[in-house]
Amino acid sequence: MISIGLDIGSVAAKGIMLDSSRQYSVMIPTGWSPRDAGRQLINRLLDSSGYNEVEVDSITVTGYGRIAIKQAARSVTEIRCHARGVAEICPGVSTIIDIGGQDSKVIHIDESGRVLDFAMNDKCAAGTGKFLQVMANALEIDVSELGEAEDLNTKVSINSMCTVFAESEIVGLFARGTPKGGIIAGLHQSVGKRVGSMAKRLGVKEQVAFTGGVAQNQGIRRALEQELGCRIIVPEVCQFTGALGAALIGRE
Ligand code: ADP
Repeated sequence: MISIGLDIGSVAAKGIMLDSSRQYSVMIPTGWSPRDAGRQLINRLLDSSGYNEVEVDSITVTGYGRIAIKQAARSVTEIRCHARGVAEICPGVSTIIDIGGQDSKVIHIDESGRVLDFAMNDKCAAGTGKFLQVMANALEIDVSELGEAEDLNTKVSINSMCTVFAESEIVGLFARGTPKGGIIAGLHQSVGKRVGSMAKRLGVKEQVAFTGGVAQNQGIRRALEQELGCRIIVPEVCQFTGALGAALIGRE
């Protein structure tokens, strides 16, 4: 059984192929066409595995671009795919916090990866990967360097809740000579508080896993741990849990 799972996100398109013994993965920027991104992912997975498309038994797609992928046999919600993916790689997790490019979600799951409840913010950019990308841009640093660059000793509070105002606020702080590391620590705290309060409203049951591209930022993980008062697991393949879940659901 050969199964492909695609997660066409707002920022990054991720693909996983599973055969009876191996797993292949690929990630590319989604770009302007989710359909092209899906096609590219499939081609790259076929290239790296050596299979022909006719040998593939199922293609399952999730993420915001899923409706554009016509060749997909099946389209499944992100919530369900993340739940299934996390249950596979982090057994014992009850709460998932996922922060992607344009939304953040909190999901309660059972041992088999069935969704019990969830909360989602897809209305406001604050508390998402896009927010961090805009702020990193204003601070002239790559988003992947934010975690390393934070300095808790010089942390300042970021008071603006809106992305546009928060950008002006940090540009002002930067211009007044506030250390970059302190501004970044403040940004992490503001995202941690925002997503953490959504998690608290739903309820946090341990163990907690943190997924999505933003989970690679150790500063956000630290801020969330502080906000929730518990340890948070970050799976090594944190950005691929949706694609993995889609591939597993397709196979099942
Ligand atoms: P989507 O599924 O919406 O495309 P992802 O889960 O792929 O979102 O996450 C994309 C976000 O992850 C980006 O907006 C960025 O903020 C963040 N990100 C991507 N790579 C890294 C990295 N190496 N370190 C920290 N954050 C990252």
